[in-house]
Amino acid sequence: MPVAFTMLVNNCLAALHWRASRSGADIVEDTVVHIDRDKKEVQTKGGGRFSFSNLIITAGPWTNQVLSNAGLPGVPMIVSNEQTVELGPRPGAPSYDWDVFPVFTWSEAGYKGRGKDGGCEYFYTTPHVTHPGVPSGGVKIGFHRQGPLLNTDEFQVSSGGKAAVDKLPHIRKELNSEQQFELDTFAWERVQDFVRKKMPSLNAEQYVGYMRCLYQCTPDLHMILGRHPADPSIVFACGFSGSGFQFAPAIANVLAALIDNSVTEQQSAILKKFDPGRFQL
Ligand SMILES: Cc1cc2nc3c(=O)[nH]c(=O)nc-3n(C[C@H](O)[C@H](O)[C@H](O)COP(=O)(O)OP(=O)(O)OC[C@H]3O[C@@H](n4cnc5c(N)ncnc54)[C@H](O)[C@@H]3O)c2cc1C
Repeated sequence: MPVAFTMLVNNCLAALHWRASRSGADIVEDTVVHIDRDKKEVQTKGGGRFSFSNLIITAGPWTNQVLSNAGLPGVPMIVSNEQTVELGPRPGAPSYDWDVFPVFTWSEAGYKGRGKDGGCEYFYTTPHVTHPGVPSGGVKIGFHRQGPLLNTDEFQVSSGGKAAVDKLPHIRKELNSEQQFELDTFAWERVQDFVRKKMPSLNAEQYVGYMRCLYQCTPDLHMILGRHPADPSIVFACGFSGSGFQFAPAIANVLAALIDNSVTEQQSAILKKFDPGRFQL
């Protein structure tokens, strides 16, 4: 039987920071504003200057902005403005707490399939987390890869990205020039329909809370991982299309091996599959 877990992201990040520090990493929190590839220097908003021989960029949805700051062409990655909502139980129904309720997903056409709209109605849920200090108001539900697509200064869409919009599973294809923070009623109404049909013990009439967040979608919904075709000293990873967190330690291993020239046969197969060069940049 498949097994899935709810992980507390802040705890995971704290553990990864601790492990990196213990291994000798210096952690500097600042914004990179320019990458001078001639001088091989990273410049930050706070005035920091860091020289490099090889540079790894993992800037998530901001990848094209950072590549542009390095004078490099962007990748065909489109950022979508996703949403999760939290719902509580109806009176008398169980509370779907994480010690009894599993991670649960439902889709009309599989993880990467296409449904009747040419998109895919795929919903994921995580149980009500009762851990102290975690602000969880109920069962969290996301309408996967269905947020409005963005094309802003921060989340730049390359010409290859614009040409690839039709390949995305998103039902709404227009590119929006502003990120939204308010409730996305389109996605909320789809979640309400889903909950009424599939999780009727949850109260679909009123959400307890909602959150807007970002996915980095690629035309084939696979990540991009490897050396930049225009400058092999720049290694980058992005385009996780809504499922990158679970792979983070493995991706870090591959990136480190690439810089170190110690790529194993298995890592080489991974790099081949996710090579940035599969797209026209
Ligand atoms: C609601 C939601 C649920 C999700 N659920 C799952 C899940 O169940 N499983 C899963 O595997 N994945 C999940 N994901 C996806 C996962 O969060 C992402 O795939 C993952 O976080 C991508 O990691 P990243 O490092 O590429 O980008 P990010 O996590 O976005 O990190 C990029 C970092 O780069 C920094 N940055 C950007 N520009 C600059 C700059 N100029 N200078 C310095 N720093 C900069 C940003 O501040 C940020 O910290 C979910 C995402 C969302 C939104």
